This record gives sequence, C-alpha cells and structure tokens, in this order.
Amino acid sequence: MRNMSHPTAIAAVMHDYGLQAKRNLGQNFFCDDNLLEAMVDASEVGPQDAVLEIGPGLGALTQHLCARAAHVTAVEIDGRLIAPLREAVADFTNVQIVQGDFLRMEDCKLKQLGAAAFLRVVANLPYYITTPVLEKLLMSDAHIVSTTVLVQKEAAGRILASPGSKAYGVLSVMVRHFCQARACFDVPRQAFVPQPGVDSCVVHLCRKEERVPPACGDAFMMRVVRAGFAMRRKTLLNNLCAPAIGLARDQAQAILAACGLDARVRGEVLPEETWQHIAELIAKEIV
Ligand code: SAM
Repeated sequence: MRNMSHPTAIAAVMHDYGLQAKRNLGQNFFCDDNLLEAMVDASEVGPQDAVLEIGPGLGALTQHLCARAAHVTAVEIDGRLIAPLREAVADFTNVQIVQGDFLRMEDCKLKQLGAAAFLRVVANLPYYITTPVLEKLLMSDAHIVSTTVLVQKEAAGRILASPGSKAYGVLSVMVRHFCQARACFDVPRQAFVPQPGVDSCVVHLCRKEERVPPACGDAFMMRVVRAGFAMRRKTLLNNLCAPAIGLARDQAQAILAACGLDARVRGEVLPEETWQHIAELIAKEIV
C-alpha cells in the first residue's frame, strides 16, 4: 500500500492511472503527513467512531482515518478516482468507498451511518461546495457528533464569524445555532498538489448537545435567517416584509419591539439567540 500523504505518491498514482486533477471538482490533494495527522487529532476520531469522509480523492486523509476509526465511509464524486482510492485503502477492512455526489445523498443514509456508532464527519472540502455541504450537515437529522473540515481561509472566516463582523451571514448563524466552532490550525498552500492560490484552515464544529431547539423548528428558523440576510443593505424590518416571509409592516415592527430591537436594526448584528426569538414570534403570526 502506498502512503498517499506524499507528493511523490500522488504524482506516481496520477501517472499510473493516466489522471489529471480536475479543477472544477476542487481537486487539490492534501499531502503533508504531519498536518494530516494533526487534522485527524483535531477531529477527535477514535476507535468507537464511524466516520463519513466527503471527497476522499486519492485517499491520503482516508488512510489516516481508517487507522483510527471503527469504520470509514468515503463518498467520492469522481468515478476516475475510485480504482486508485480502493488501491490506497486495500490494507484496511473497515472502509466503504461510495461513488456519488454527497449533496445528493439522502438524509436517511446519513442517519444509517450514525445509527450504530458516534458519527463524525471529516473532509478536505472543495471550495465550490463548502457552504452547501455544511448547511446539509448542520440541518441533517443524523446525530453528527462533530464535523472537522479543511476549508479555504475565507470560508473559515464565514464559518467562524461573530455578529457585527463583515463575514457574518447565514452560514455563521447556522453554525453558532447548532455547534461550538473553533479554528484549529492553518494549512499553507504548499501542502497541496496541485497548489491552490490561497491558504486553508482546519475548522472543528462540535454539536451542542444541550441546545434547546426553537419551538418553530430549525428549518423555519433558517428560513427566517435567510430572509433576514436576503438583501444585506436593507433593514431587517424591510427584509421581513419582503415576500419570502411577507409580514405586514406593523406586525414586523411589533416583533422587533418585542425582542427589544430598534426598527432600523440589520440582521448582521444579531446573535443566534435573537434570531431564534424572532423566528419563534414570526411563527406565531404566520404559521
Ligand atoms: N480528501 C482528499 C485529500 O485531502 O487529498 C481530496 C480532497 S479534494 C480538495 C476534494 C475532493 O472532493 C475531490 O476528490 C473531488 O473529486 C471531491 N468532490 C468534489 N465534489 C464532490 C461532491 N459533490 N461529492 C463528493 N465528492 C466531491
């Protein structure tokens, strides 16, 4: 079995299988043994855990995960990579390779993965699907204990943003609503083949177990948050009166007042608890 955590191994496999990395699938392969090991440390994966890896590529991270977890399910969209990936994990019996688009994976399949063990997600995510993948994981009914992702630094900024900052948006509210999140460490662009134009960061999201879900449901709350951020230059009041939520002006004013908010407030300054309160009051009016 080749150790896929080295640039020479990546080059040899690409040559042997006649492959070229596909830029449109975000194929920048992570090949630094120490940083891969550090990422698996940050994920807290242990022998009792089932792991879902999204986008295993040529298997560098998969090899490290298989050495630590009870079981690894790796979902890769690119059919060309399945044969080299199988070769990369041939020495392990605790891994299942699935060819498919993670964004199309049904939630019941995710729930099955977490049915018998603690489910942790670990992934080096392509930039173009970072937000939809995280939104899908956060909104999933599967009991995902933690999600550890390697993402571009700009995306890490949005994931970890605090209320009032420029990067704070729908994804930041969602993350804060469901998880405790932290940046673990930076990964320089030199750790990838081919080398991307930007540096990355490992981010760890740990599910809040003690969370009290909104009475209106998480999905309705996120509908309100999306509507509230729909036009960032508009006030929250105007966004709540737009068709996505469709409150009458006096209804929206009364809800903001009940939350102790000024009628000119903008969504980007509100913490997740206030969004929850607003959503619960709106649900009473329109559901
Ligand atoms: N995990 C490998 C590593 O760390 O070297 C590869 C990471 S590479 C940044 C992203 C991988 O995600 C690629 O192999 C790409 O083909 C795969 N991918 C892209 N979109 C995907 C999707 N929607 N579902 C599953 N895999 C996807």
